[in-house]
Amino acid sequence: MSKSAKGSIEKKGKNVKAKSGLNKSILDQGLSMLVDMLEYKQLWRGGLLVKIDLRYTSQTCSSCGHVAKENRLTQTKFECVECGFSENADINASRNILAAGHTVLSVEGG
Ligand SMILES: [Zn+2]
Repeated sequence: MSKSAKGSIEKKGKNVKAKSGLNKSILDQGLSMLVDMLEYKQLWRGGLLVKIDLRYTSQTCSSCGHVAKENRLTQTKFECVECGFSENADINASRNILAAGHTVLSVEGG
């Protein structure tokens, strides 16, 4: 359903821009439904879904907090240019997301 419209850089296909907008809309709706379902299931089981701002979580050092896109030179490896901390990029981002969730809970009182 969200397959790209046919075309190339040299030879543009028909309605490529419109199809791109439609694809984004479909994918956004799917993500929104997933979040709604997660929230419903968590509340049903007595849990809590904490929504946080994910921006820069993959570029932030979970050890010293330094933010730079140079910290993440490859998809899988994170290496802080400030303190030298090195870790798998997904694990580093996960630590930042967990810390952000704890911050939200401490501010909002859980
Ligand atoms: Zn660091």
